[in-house]
Amino acid sequence: MTKDLYEILGVSEKSTPDELRKSYRKLAKKNHPDANPDDPASEERFKRISDAYDILGNPEKREQYDLMRQGGHDPFAGGGGGEGFGDLSDVLRSMFGGGAGGGNPFGGGRSAQRATSQVEIEIPFATAARGGTVQRVLRLPVQCSECNGAGGSGRETCSSCGGAGRISSGQGFFSTMHPCVNCGGRGYTLRKKCSSCGGSGETQSSEKVSLRIPPGAVDGSALRTSVGGNTVLVRLRVKSDRFFTRQGRDLLCSVTVTAAQAVLGSALMVRTLDGKVKLKIKPGTQPGTVLRMRGKGVVHNGVTGDQFVTVVVKLPVELSDDQRSLWTKIKETGS
Ligand SMILES: [Zn+2]
Ligand SMILES: [Zn+2]
Repeated sequence: MTKDLYEILGVSEKSTPDELRKSYRKLAKKNHPDANPDDPASEERFKRISDAYDILGNPEKREQYDLMRQGGHDPFAGGGGGEGFGDLSDVLRSMFGGGAGGGNPFGGGRSAQRATSQVEIEIPFATAARGGTVQRVLRLPVQCSECNGAGGSGRETCSSCGGAGRISSGQGFFSTMHPCVNCGGRGYTLRKKCSSCGGSGETQSSEKVSLRIPPGAVDGSALRTSVGGNTVLVRLRVKSDRFFTRQGRDLLCSVTVTAAQAVLGSALMVRTLDGKVKLKIKPGTQPGTVLRMRGKGVVHNGVTGDQFVTVVVKLPVELSDDQRSLWTKIKETGS
């Protein structure tokens, strides 16, 4: 079973939104359960095609997926084991949190289950844009060595939820499930709690990790890495920048010039991700003009965006006597 969304939709990763939509329509029509009454597997195929298009058909989700996909093939993704992705719902869950499988991956009823830890780290704007390596100490839950994860002894079925670990509130159609507060979602309580972990079965350990950030990482995207044999999902928070704003692969910024610089033209040193670069302001540049600095944007999938610079013209507020007479002269010329 193929797990790659592009393969599911039968397109290349470089396909345009139009190509994607066409291929999706063709496949959805062909695999629609109504069109295949004798093929029960068609429903599953149809669902996968829809799920794949749900992500790739949305530019933002596609960008995130591309990043995760890169991460999956990255050497840092698995400690040699090549973790990659699980199934489709796993991808969806890790990309957009919660959802797909229902329930909380940390608090499930079976404590023996190997959980995927999730942590959030903040990365510098430039690292996200151009890629790089960051070192972080991650606080990760590990099985308590005192009780081997049991949390204590004298296990009794939780009296509040009857062992389900979840409780429904509300009525009928509008009812929702919540983790049971009494047992913390485990479905049982302990007569004697472990003194080392307080009954949770887990303790925290600090792990120093080195993470490779792929170029073009977006805020909120997730990377998968392996720490001490456990899979850790690292969600990236990209720090904002005072000068730059990101728009896909492009960077937006603005520079302020004087009236004379705009009228007569000038050259400015403008900050880029590659250091300061000279930018020519042509004579007669109007306020609000947007200038393009090619190839100074964000690298994503091997393509580099541009930097767009909006020219802001600052007019003098207070004038010296000399300046007043000069502006008066300009005024008299009628320009
Ligand atoms: Zn309970
Ligand atoms: Zn313990």
